[in-house]
Amino acid sequence: MKKKIGGVIVEITEGNITKQPDVEAVVNAANAQLRTGGGVAGAIHRASGPELAEACRDFAPIKTGEAVITDAFDLNNDYVIHCLGPVYGVDRPEDQYLAKTYKNALKIAEENNIKSIAFPSISTGAFGYPIKQAAVTALRTVKSSLKDLQSIEKIRFVLFSRSDYKIYKDTMNSILNLEE
Ligand code: ADP
Repeated sequence: MKKKIGGVIVEITEGNITKQPDVEAVVNAANAQLRTGGGVAGAIHRASGPELAEACRDFAPIKTGEAVITDAFDLNNDYVIHCLGPVYGVDRPEDQYLAKTYKNALKIAEENNIKSIAFPSISTGAFGYPIKQAAVTALRTVKSSLKDLQSIEKIRFVLFSRSDYKIYKDTMNSILNLEE
């Protein structure tokens, strides 16, 4: 589903973050060391190639909520924005850290004049954040950021399963008050 709000398209889609060739930047749900691993980070590093780990080395470690940007190398995008979401139950208050993570990713995209960006569901895999709560914070943060965006014209959430997609879709309908 998608909706245009104040000139910005917000989309929710089911899919793989490494298969989004029509966006300029993809967001990596990274680890502090910016290394490959499981989940999103593993998929992005595999698709981007070994140069990505090389490019990340100078930036690591990053702190919870921080975001850094690199080239996307063999991915069909221009940039990867690596950010570190909160570990649920550890980085408290989790909702504030998760909001900060989305805000910093959008901020670095704006600083690089990026027009389109795709997010995975940050922190809801290895970091254990309950998907419904994460969706609420992600969509509230995007909603409150829309008015400040200058370069970004499209924000996409890429959900890896049908059930996660449905949760984000329902949350988007209630938070952004949208129809499909
Ligand atoms: P975190 O460590 O921030 O929890 P993960 O990568 O473990 O990050 O998972 C974040 C979310 O991304 C989970 O909901 C997971 O199902 C999903 N995910 C895993 N692989 C991919 C992928 N290739 N594309 C999009 N989403 C993915």
